[in-house]
Amino acid sequence: MPRNPILNAITVDVEDYFHVTAFERVIPPQDWDDFPLRVERNTTRLLEIFSLRGVHATFFVLGWVARKCPDLIRRIHRGGHEIGTHGYAHRVIYRQFREEFRQDLRQSKKIIEDLLGSAVKIYRAPSYSITAKSMWAMDVLGEEGIEYDSSIFPTVHDIYGIPTAPRFPHLKVLKNGQMIKEFPPSTVRLFGRNFPVAGGGYLRLFPYRLTAWAIRKINEVERQPAMIYLHPWELDPRQPRIDASWVSRFRHYQNLDSTEMKLRRLLKEFRFGALKQALDGRALEEENMHQRAGQEATTVEQSARRSALRTWLRSRVHRASS
Ligand SMILES: [Zn+2]
Repeated sequence: MPRNPILNAITVDVEDYFHVTAFERVIPPQDWDDFPLRVERNTTRLLEIFSLRGVHATFFVLGWVARKCPDLIRRIHRGGHEIGTHGYAHRVIYRQFREEFRQDLRQSKKIIEDLLGSAVKIYRAPSYSITAKSMWAMDVLGEEGIEYDSSIFPTVHDIYGIPTAPRFPHLKVLKNGQMIKEFPPSTVRLFGRNFPVAGGGYLRLFPYRLTAWAIRKINEVERQPAMIYLHPWELDPRQPRIDASWVSRFRHYQNLDSTEMKLRRLLKEFRFGALKQALDGRALEEENMHQRAGQEATTVEQSARRSALRTWLRSRVHRASS
């Protein structure tokens, strides 16, 4: 059993191996239909792994995948997981105009909302592409009904990152006064710099012990929840190989056979839940338990927690840069 009481967030970007930004030059979106889909079986594998541990995760679904695999999205939803969107066509935001970005977001939201019958309020940008150049996207997210975001990576990278961005959950105040709860992917602070540690290629490339050390440091020393992210294709060493640059191939294919083992170990040694759960510390299981028992959640307890959350978040208010 995990010793640490802090609930961390576990998130999945539901896309296939040919959607990634690293391959966008060799596989344009009009060719996507030509590739065999593997996202359905790989996401099913993830659902099985989460189910064995009774963990609920947040799935950021690419609109294109929701259109192709509606049953998969319904199954994720039925499993009690949280569903957000990863946009429709996996285009990085800073290469789009504001209205193009809005249309991509709307298209993906509509497909997923029609499937689920409920509003999608959680977003993650393709390749964490809300950067200093595309901070305007936060206002569009707010205008389109997004309340939770996980798109700003507080680190240095050639595709993404704002190295000075806050490392932990905080509120972004938008120009119209609305607020978005921002939950960044995890980094560790060493030698005055932020190093990404806990997800995607970093989870695959680093030894498990390094990832575990980083999460323990975040939980036990900094008293904060960690945010882990992964992709269904990262559990699939047998996926077709794409002929791209060696850097892209290294980033995409290295240690694919280690992801599942590392994920299973993380789920065993740390507490994980969906983004909103980890953000407000409220267990969905507890909520479900109340509902199953036909009871209303204890309102005093709930309102106390909510007011604590508001105070906690207020202390982290970070004004969105214009
Ligand atoms: Zn992605």
